[in-house]
Amino acid sequence: MGRYQAEAVVVSVKDWGESDRLVMLFSRDMGKISALAYGAKRPRSQLAGGMQLFSHVEVSLLPGKVFEQVKQCEIKNSFRNIKEDLSRMAYGMFMLEVLNELCPERQPESELFDKLLAALTLLGRKNPRLVALAWAWQVLGEMGLSPRLDYCVFCGKDSEIARFDSRSGGCCCQTCGNENNMVMINAETILFLQVLSRLDWMSPPEFKITGSTLVQAERLVLDYLIHCLDKPLKSTEFIRQVGR
Ligand SMILES: [Zn+2]
Repeated sequence: MGRYQAEAVVVSVKDWGESDRLVMLFSRDMGKISALAYGAKRPRSQLAGGMQLFSHVEVSLLPGKVFEQVKQCEIKNSFRNIKEDLSRMAYGMFMLEVLNELCPERQPESELFDKLLAALTLLGRKNPRLVALAWAWQVLGEMGLSPRLDYCVFCGKDSEIARFDSRSGGCCCQTCGNENNMVMINAETILFLQVLSRLDWMSPPEFKITGSTLVQAERLVLDYLIHCLDKPLKSTEFIRQVGR
């Protein structure tokens, strides 16, 4: 295969040697693609502006043995309003990390790609905590990892749901969920997460939720993400620092 074009969002950037960058591109038609951008660290490089986190780009790629090579790059949207606000940037980095960690390479996800563009647009305008939470929750769903929220995973009862057990992949009732390391959950939080599963990114509703529901939902999603990935997410430390 010769040189080819791809529309993509840059979801991870690493320094590579003195002047190059290794990027992970999430493309509309081919899913995640690892690519080397030679010279991209040099300010005058034609690739410098585009090979940055969040950039929505049209790239020309040359296939390589291990990594593709970025030959040309045209910026469609650099999402500057995300990068100019530390809190939005921190939550945005979390969104990209979740996608990068959960999504395998070369698995086309064109619907998810369109959702990512809509989600990044919303991130620049709406409550970043909500946008990031909804995004992580939907990526889990897209990857077939949605936990059970509608009944107790131990006894099957669909009432008195009180806790969430990441290891068992779902909720449990008051009787079964008696371990301290389980996350507390109530009916309002379950309902909120169910609404987030179906969230329409193109025309999202205004949410009226309490702070405690948001915190509970965040704890649940983060606990479950760490369980699924079997490691912590790097971006959560940045979110904590920014929050201080
Ligand atoms: Zn039970």
